[in-house]
Amino acid sequence: MALLFAAIAAAGVLAWRRAAPRVATLRAARPDDPEWAGAGGDRVRRELVEVVGQRKLFQRLVPGLMHAAIFWGFVVLLPTIVEAAVAIVDPHGHLPLIGDTTWFAWIVDVFAIGVLAGVTVAVWIRKVQRPDRFRGSHLEEADRILLMITAIVVSLLLWQATRVALGLVHVEGPITGWLADSIDGVSRGTLEVAERVLVWLHLLLVLGFLVYLPGSKHLHIVTAAPNVWLAKGAPSGHLTPLRIDLEGPEEEMRFGAGVATDLTRKQTLDLFSCTECGRCQDVCPAWTTGKPLSPKLLIMGLRDHVAAAPAGELELQPLVPNAVTDEVVWDCVTCGACVRECPVDIEHVDTIVDLRRHLVMAESRFPSEAGTLLRGVEGPGENPWSQPASARMDWATGLDVRVLGPGDPAPEVLFWVGCAGAFDERAREATRSTVRLLQAAGVDVAVLGARESCTGDPVRRMGHEFLFQTLAERNVSTLNEAGVTTIVASCAHCFNTLANEYPDYGGRYDVVHHSELLAKLVREGRLHPSRTSVAVTYHDACYLGRHNDRYDAPRDVLGAVAGEVEEMPRTRERSFCCGAGGARFWMEEGGDARINETRYAEAVRTGAEVVATACPFCLVMLDDAANAAGAGPEVADVATLLARSALTDGSGEAT
Ligand code: SF4
Ligand code: SF4
Repeated sequence: MALLFAAIAAAGVLAWRRAAPRVATLRAARPDDPEWAGAGGDRVRRELVEVVGQRKLFQRLVPGLMHAAIFWGFVVLLPTIVEAAVAIVDPHGHLPLIGDTTWFAWIVDVFAIGVLAGVTVAVWIRKVQRPDRFRGSHLEEADRILLMITAIVVSLLLWQATRVALGLVHVEGPITGWLADSIDGVSRGTLEVAERVLVWLHLLLVLGFLVYLPGSKHLHIVTAAPNVWLAKGAPSGHLTPLRIDLEGPEEEMRFGAGVATDLTRKQTLDLFSCTECGRCQDVCPAWTTGKPLSPKLLIMGLRDHVAAAPAGELELQPLVPNAVTDEVVWDCVTCGACVRECPVDIEHVDTIVDLRRHLVMAESRFPSEAGTLLRGVEGPGENPWSQPASARMDWATGLDVRVLGPGDPAPEVLFWVGCAGAFDERAREATRSTVRLLQAAGVDVAVLGARESCTGDPVRRMGHEFLFQTLAERNVSTLNEAGVTTIVASCAHCFNTLANEYPDYGGRYDVVHHSELLAKLVREGRLHPSRTSVAVTYHDACYLGRHNDRYDAPRDVLGAVAGEVEEMPRTRERSFCCGAGGARFWMEEGGDARINETRYAEAVRTGAEVVATACPFCLVMLDDAANAAGAGPEVADVATLLARSALTDGSGEAT
């Protein structure tokens, strides 16, 4: 008994010594935004679905089954550790209720074999298949862990077999029974020694695993569940506002994440939760087109930086460029593919934006091309195109569009045109089509005209939170004064900001995407498109699809005007970005390939004659790619396609 307690106490002390620096780092982190404390029901659901059910892991069937077998096996086999401790004190001892029962003996055997099968598949994936997603991961550490798991489970089975053979338990599972039969001829004395050796070996292996855990990537066994609990959840397009208190003490003023202690508790827990599985890296448009940014390596870089800092010196080294380079921080298109893929709900985008916030607001450090965006939005016209406010209605030339003046009665629907929709020549066609379709369907629609300014989406994603909040407050004030209740937006970024981020500034509206409203008007028989046999493929905009779960409405519109929609391999929630998000629209692109051209090539391979989009930024990016290709399918917004079909004047042209 004394030896057992000494072993457990020694393991506890050693484990704590390895865990203490990480606990201290977590304690030094910034508290999370209090708003994250809500939505308990959703958090319970995520724990059940993502942690217990391993949902995200099952997106890849074989690795999913492998991980689930190991995870579920470990959960189910946990009581056997207590049973081993009991049996060390008394070889005849067993757990109350479940010990020495046939059903539990069977469960132990089945799950133990499941774990060993899982380990075998894991070794096969790592050593034979060698997927690219592991590039940069610590593979030797994973090998050590797999070896430990194997040793723990094998020692458990052998120990149970000696107990059966010695008659210390009266029931057996299929594997332990078979093992016990195969050592039938061994003398009782030898079996008694083997039983003692194996139970101790088993327990010491478990304790050794416990000591190893806190300093390894397998700490995710402990941190994954709280990390999933703390995740902000849907909609992922919502960024947590930076509480800027210009009146507060200067030393407490924080503009994003400059050093490790600027990271929030969740962001710090993210670092300790990464399993290095590389699922995020595999789907990242930046990494897969040859840029330095890998969301996995970003998290690992931050974690290693934090882990290497001596106690009390977390604040001394800037995160950029010590943990990650400037280039890595600016490569991100904020598409959210990494977040969606991550099995432990690491939220890369929030961390990247926080790194950018510090660079932009505290150091004025950003790619020079992005200066054009900032100058335009800060300028008198308040738009990235640096156009005067008076030019905001140029797109409407020749159309009879109601512009909402101060004091005018609020319309049924306010059309938020957006800067791209107002100023980009190619995007204007979709803007005009949207208005004409709404008018044709009898919708009372108006626009703000020169009183509309940039929603602030690109400057927020670029990191200029202060400028974003200024724009948000002004736009909300304009919308509230005008009595607006329903907004339709044809830009996925405007839609996301108006629907998810403006409520933080007092702007609560019923925000619909133009594809949703158009699909509804078609459904209600207020628009009458005629179908053609043209083959169409649809590109899901990240800020409409993945960040806001809007997948069906654009497809419904296309279903009304075209034949079957040919899906690209990467579609719906696993769509591949066009390359415009995260203010990347205004920045130079490096790497081996351009993101927009990669996506357009994928669309071309479907054989479609038209690539449909539902966001002006996607439209422009993919149209640029079409122009670069020289030939290929046309790129058009769903509203443009619907207008061509539903607003004909007999000449085949949209009126
Ligand atoms: S948000 Fe997109 S671009 Fe940014 S790291 Fe994640 S996957 Fe890569
Ligand atoms: S961040 Fe998530 S998806 Fe990426 S490697 Fe780590 S655990 Fe895997």
